[in-house]
Amino acid sequence: MTDLVSMSLMARAEALMPGGVNSPVRAFAAVGGGPVFILRGRGARIVGADGTEYLDYVGSWGPAILGHAHPAVVEAVQRAAADGLSFGAPTALEVEIAELLQERYPSLEMLRCVSSGTEATMSALRVARGFTGRDAIVKFEGAYHGHADPLLVRAGSGSATFGVPDSAGVPLGMVAATATIPYNDVAALRNLFAREGQRIAAVIVEPVAGNMGVVPPAPGFLAAIVESCRKHGALSIFDEVMTGSRVGLGGAQGLFGITPDLTCLGKVIGGGLPLAVYGGRRDVMSRVAPLGPVYQAGTLAGNPVAVSAGLATLRALDQEAYAVLEARGAALQEGLTRALRDHRTVGTVQRVGSMLTLFFSAGPIRSWTDAEGADRGRFASFHQALLARGVYWPPSQFEAAFISVAHSTDDIALTIAAANEALRG
Ligand SMILES: *Cc1c(COP(=O)(O)O)cnc(C)c1O
Repeated sequence: MTDLVSMSLMARAEALMPGGVNSPVRAFAAVGGGPVFILRGRGARIVGADGTEYLDYVGSWGPAILGHAHPAVVEAVQRAAADGLSFGAPTALEVEIAELLQERYPSLEMLRCVSSGTEATMSALRVARGFTGRDAIVKFEGAYHGHADPLLVRAGSGSATFGVPDSAGVPLGMVAATATIPYNDVAALRNLFAREGQRIAAVIVEPVAGNMGVVPPAPGFLAAIVESCRKHGALSIFDEVMTGSRVGLGGAQGLFGITPDLTCLGKVIGGGLPLAVYGGRRDVMSRVAPLGPVYQAGTLAGNPVAVSAGLATLRALDQEAYAVLEARGAALQEGLTRALRDHRTVGTVQRVGSMLTLFFSAGPIRSWTDAEGADRGRFASFHQALLARGVYWPPSQFEAAFISVAHSTDDIALTIAAANEALRG
């Protein structure tokens, strides 16, 4: 299926890089056929190594919310680069992005820039543990928070269990204090707090799950997390690395009107360059070095080129942009849902704003247990059929598709037509 140029590049890549890639999902292992190597992108489209054009629904896994090579972002990056790439000293740009983020996320009373989502969640956990003096953390099954040791746990099903690592190379001790409970399960959360409340430093949650496919929070779920934490002296951490500046101007916390203690941002806020942020309550963030005893640092943190890309991206995103994203998302969801029905295919399309997943399962999908039941074989053939028709869909059943403001109504119509053909088989 994949073009010959990409196949030959993959052969060279596999000789030197594990799986031929620098991040596992890029290898297309879940859908087969081998990855397309990308030459360039512009707007909603990317061009593969042999010159084939694709309509892109990966968008660098979220950051490309304005489409690829947006002129304002490219210009900001070029201007910043010409003035020097990195100083390891403060710049005005960092103050500007901190002020802009604080305006959009009032919960960010203080914040710190880092270079990846993984760093943001890892650091947020450290400061939560440092602030509370407690060790245990709670995450939800099927949620991904980057690849830091204590978060690489999915653990058992159903009842709360303290963790077993998901990855080789993670010592048991690193995850022994990580409890995992089902997403959207308020009863499990309350039970866990009733039993272990005094040990829990933090609960970390994707306020809209995106890493098991898109799973919206059930009404009351996020509020229950924030309340349980407050009641037991633990901290709530919203991992908005995916949802931040994606589901709305102020992320999921703005969309749902819920204020967490700490927040992690990444992806969109860097506009395609390595930039992430963690922050929140002033009393908590005041524990971070050099103000406090929680150590965290970064040679390239707040890098002027990355911050410039982020600022240009955030400034181009206004309420009107989110209205466009919502309209395109709704149209795609409706078209795909109709296509499933017309072709008598068992499936459900779940969406929040411009992030969306077509699950080959009757649904609704509320948790990892539900998501796991989806038909991965059916997804793989759907993915291949879309690719053959010029639609580059995320290469896993358990990933979100991302729409950008560069996706036109014609692009959405084209995608729905391709999906109809793909489902016809
Ligand atoms: C992508 C993602 C991360 C990890 O971010 P990286 O920049 O890949 O390290 C963490 N949390 C969530 C919710 C994510 O979607």
